[in-house]
Amino acid sequence: MIDLVCLGKAFDLQKEIVAKITGIEDSRVVNCKSLNGDLVFLQSDTSINPDLANQKVVVGQKFLDQLYLGDVLLLKPNGFVRILFRVKSNHNSLFVTEMCNSNCLMCSQPPKNADDIDYHYTINEQLINLIPKSTKFLGITGGEPLLLESKFVKLLDDCQNLLPETHIHVLTNGRYFAWPKFVELFNGIDKERIVFGIPLYSDFDENHDFIVQAKNAFNQTILGLHNLGRNEFRIEIRCVLHKLTFERLPRLAEYIYSNLPFVEHIAFMGLEYTGYTPYNSKLLWIEPHAYSTELEQSVLFLNSVGINVSIYNIPLCLLTPSTRKFARNSISDWKKEYLEECIGCSHLNDCGGVFGTSKIQSAYIKAIID
Ligand code: SF4
Repeated sequence: MIDLVCLGKAFDLQKEIVAKITGIEDSRVVNCKSLNGDLVFLQSDTSINPDLANQKVVVGQKFLDQLYLGDVLLLKPNGFVRILFRVKSNHNSLFVTEMCNSNCLMCSQPPKNADDIDYHYTINEQLINLIPKSTKFLGITGGEPLLLESKFVKLLDDCQNLLPETHIHVLTNGRYFAWPKFVELFNGIDKERIVFGIPLYSDFDENHDFIVQAKNAFNQTILGLHNLGRNEFRIEIRCVLHKLTFERLPRLAEYIYSNLPFVEHIAFMGLEYTGYTPYNSKLLWIEPHAYSTELEQSVLFLNSVGINVSIYNIPLCLLTPSTRKFARNSISDWKKEYLEECIGCSHLNDCGGVFGTSKIQSAYIKAIID
């Protein structure tokens, strides 16, 4: 997760700095320190405080009251400040590249072609040295993280050494795992503390390949899943729900049960209406209530055969009563919203809300009155 804070104006900042918040004097001045001891001060005011003359300062930051001791920031010479790690969030991730070898129709963060691997790697190597050792969960995401190849293994290794209590969740399309030699690179890591979340959109290869816009992706993904399973890695399968996936959902559930019994978790996920999705709306958009039968059938089947199954990103009012217990509070806190319709809902405290980043919301969101 990379979260934009604000564009301000920087003084004496010659290069990008990754720095942890070490002091908050009041809601107007925040002190940060990098790994190699660089000090940077953030100010809400636009004029430099005379006490900070000749220091590295970024002025005009409007959101200082949303920052906490221990948050880690990326500070740029052009005055941009981004939050890389929030101490109060359970949804922190290392963002490793914007490149991808797929081009999914519903990608919420469309890939870019420029090689940014070394850029993000340098940032993340500093970041993992600055975040608290007590961090429980950390995601790794992109783009496609496996494009980092051996650098990715090194990053994982460093995460596990520096953060001994942290469970890591990697979002990857898994296609590189089709090559057994690639999987072998990961054999030195602590398999208990890592889960690979891999999308599978259909039991039918042509459907999956069309959705991810990559020929042979289905075969590579299935081979990759088997290679991971054979090497006893922990796997989660993810399927985004939309017009191109819902009809075959019960068959996909049966396919997973029959062919991939070693996976430990299946997540069916609501669509985030952003990124490519608005451009592919005719192909993709369907009201969640219109696929509730297929979703219910698939979830109840997987649960009945003992497979751990969850529903992500769909509010409770859009689910049938029998599937509500499978819904998880999955939307990152910085993306989550509740709507006017939620006022008075009996399930407000249990519901994971909706994507605030979605450009449209379901017309069927309505308070549940028990
Ligand atoms: S009305 Fe709002 S709080 Fe209630 S279930 Fe729907 S989205 Fe959730």
